[in-house]
Amino acid sequence: MCRSWWVDPGRGVLSGVDRDGLAFSYEIACEGTFLVGSRLVIETVPLLIYCDTCKTERAPAFIQQIDCPDCHTPAQKIIRGRELEVAALEVAA
Ligand SMILES: [Zn+2]
Repeated sequence: MCRSWWVDPGRGVLSGVDRDGLAFSYEIACEGTFLVGSRLVIETVPLLIYCDTCKTERAPAFIQQIDCPDCHTPAQKIIRGRELEVAALEVAA
């Protein structure tokens, strides 16, 4: 039986998903399925915005204050950081 599944979800810092809660829920969801014994690796995706003033992509210093770290214009467009998706699935026999 295969016991070497490796699932890697990308979790954006603004996804609203708690890292520990996701890992705990995954373990419970795997019980009684062929995924028992699999490993969940959670990759945190950092926040990235587009600044209309600087005309470029910027990484805010804090997720509590989503603005450009250079000119402090509030973010109008979030490019990255809201994801919750399976980034990779590795299977070994
Ligand atoms: Zn800016």
